[in-house]
Amino acid sequence: MKTGYLIDMDGVIYRENNLIKGAVEFVSALLNTGTAFLFLTNNSAPTAEDLAVRLRHLGVNGLSAKHFYTSAMNTADFLDETHPNCTAFVIGEGGLMAALHQHKIANDSISPDYIVVGEGAFIAEKLTKAHELIEKGARLLATNPDNWCPVSSQKTRPGAGSIAAFLEASTGRRAYYLGKPNGYMFHRACQKLTDVALGPIERIMMIGDTMETDIRGAVEAGLHSYLVLTGSTQIEDVGDYVYQPTRIFQSIADLVEEVKTGIVAENPPNSILGNVRHSGGKLGSRHQTDVLALYKPRPRPAMTK
Ligand SMILES: [Mg+2]
Repeated sequence: MKTGYLIDMDGVIYRENNLIKGAVEFVSALLNTGTAFLFLTNNSAPTAEDLAVRLRHLGVNGLSAKHFYTSAMNTADFLDETHPNCTAFVIGEGGLMAALHQHKIANDSISPDYIVVGEGAFIAEKLTKAHELIEKGARLLATNPDNWCPVSSQKTRPGAGSIAAFLEASTGRRAYYLGKPNGYMFHRACQKLTDVALGPIERIMMIGDTMETDIRGAVEAGLHSYLVLTGSTQIEDVGDYVYQPTRIFQSIADLVEEVKTGIVAENPPNSILGNVRHSGGKLGSRHQTDVLALYKPRPRPAMTK
């Protein structure tokens, strides 16, 4: 049975600037066995080339741009497919700009079809401009729903979700969120994986550390979902979720043998699950899509003087 892997990066391969134990062996096993794989990240700031260089500096060799698919690339694919020749006003970094440029989606600060929001450095004037353009009819699109992104174990930075939320609040318009867990991200990633493998793949596993994006998206896309406990999810938290991973691993190191042999062992489902509610950690919804049920719709007062 031909197998392919979709692999999240932060919390699976590395944390901060440290490789997670087993990451080098895992990627080597994938490359040596010719197994199809694709790194899948919600980070829209870097290009695929940037990510390949980053991993090389961390000690993972043999990767190139074709091994990466970001939420920025997903956003560009989405616009190219659903609205060819559209224009966009962009709040984001190089990875997003490059992906849109590749699909010939022009930058437009006069009358854009879309405001596209990614994460990274941005300035207040850009938000003001985006706000005005949405009021004039531009549609609001975010590369991913992450409210914050991990920087270190003690530090986070604002993500695309929270920036889009600012514009949702100021304009009263809803954003559409691409990236994980949106099915379009998984749909296009599976398509790209098939292209890389030069043929159909019967079994696709998504490996990730975050329940709301990696595991939820994989479940909804009908893929196998493998949770690793080296990132944002503690074993005690898993029982809180309606959707559950197919298998749970301490780290990516536990998967090296399977890739080498090509034999997928079947664990008893949820055999190491706990259901103790996690307390502590960062407060608030990690992803902007999680708050929709609570604040829908987002009202705005009438503009009267
Ligand atoms: Mg992650």
